[in-house]
Amino acid sequence: MGKIDIAVIGGSGFYNLLNKPELIKVETPYGPPSAKLAVGKVGERKVVFLPRHGYDHELPPSQIPYKANLWAFKSLGVERIIAITACGSLQTKMKRGDFVVVDQFVDRTRHRDDTFFQGPLTTHISSAYPYCEQLSKIAYQTGRKLNIGIHQNGTLVIIEGPRFSTKAESEWFTKMGWDIINMTGYPEVTLAKELELCYCAIALVTDYDVGIVTKEKIKPVSMGEITKVFKENNQKAQKLVLEMIRKIPDERSCECGKVLEGARI
Ligand SMILES: [Zn+2]
Repeated sequence: MGKIDIAVIGGSGFYNLLNKPELIKVETPYGPPSAKLAVGKVGERKVVFLPRHGYDHELPPSQIPYKANLWAFKSLGVERIIAITACGSLQTKMKRGDFVVVDQFVDRTRHRDDTFFQGPLTTHISSAYPYCEQLSKIAYQTGRKLNIGIHQNGTLVIIEGPRFSTKAESEWFTKMGWDIINMTGYPEVTLAKELELCYCAIALVTDYDVGIVTKEKIKPVSMGEITKVFKENNQKAQKLVLEMIRKIPDERSCECGKVLEGARI
C-alpha cells in the first residue's frame, strides 16, 4: 500500500465520502481503533476515513479509543488530519447550520486518557495554538469559496458527557465568551499534536445547547435535533472536505512537525 496522505475523522454521515474504499484493520499498542479504516482515493491522493463513533455509532464520547485512532493514522504514514464534528452554539453569532473552524479549546473532560507521554521520557508539548494553522486556513478559504456559512475561528468547550450541560453550566460558558460546545473535541487534537501530525477541526453547529443565547424559549438540545441538522448539512460538509483534500499542498508550511523540539527535559 502506498503512502496515505490525509486522514478524515468524522461522524456517520461520512461513510460514503470515499468511492469503494478498502476496509483495513489496524492494530495499535492501545488496542483497536474505533472501527476498520476505510482507505480510498480522492483525485491522486490516498485518503483514510475513520468513523469516530464506530460504524454503528456504538461508542459514546468517553469510550472512543482516541489514542488508538491517532496511533493508527500515524502508523499508516498520515501527516494531516481533517476532523469533522457536530457542536452546540453558545453565542448568537454561531447559528444552526454554520460551520466553525476551531482555533482554541477549553477542556472540561474528566475521564480520558489524553497523552502518549506517561514517562519515563517526560514531555510537555505547547498547547497555546493547538490546531494546524495551514489546514485551518485552507478549511476557511475553501468554505468561503463554496459559499458555505463558515466562521474563521471559534473556541470549543469539550464536556465529558454523555449528559448535556445544565442551564448554569451553559450560561457560564456563554458568559466566558466561548463559542461552541461538544463532547468529542478532546483529546483528539492534542494527541495528534503529540504525534506531530497536522490537525484541523471543523465543527457544524446543530443546536443551541440549552438555549441561553437565543434569549427565547426554545427546547434544550436533543439528539433528534442534532441528527436532523447534521444530515441536512452533510453534503456541504463532504463537499468541503473533498475540496480541501484537493487543495492541501504536499509540503507542510506549519510548525506541527516540530512540536517535540524543546518539549523534553
Ligand atoms: Zn500543520
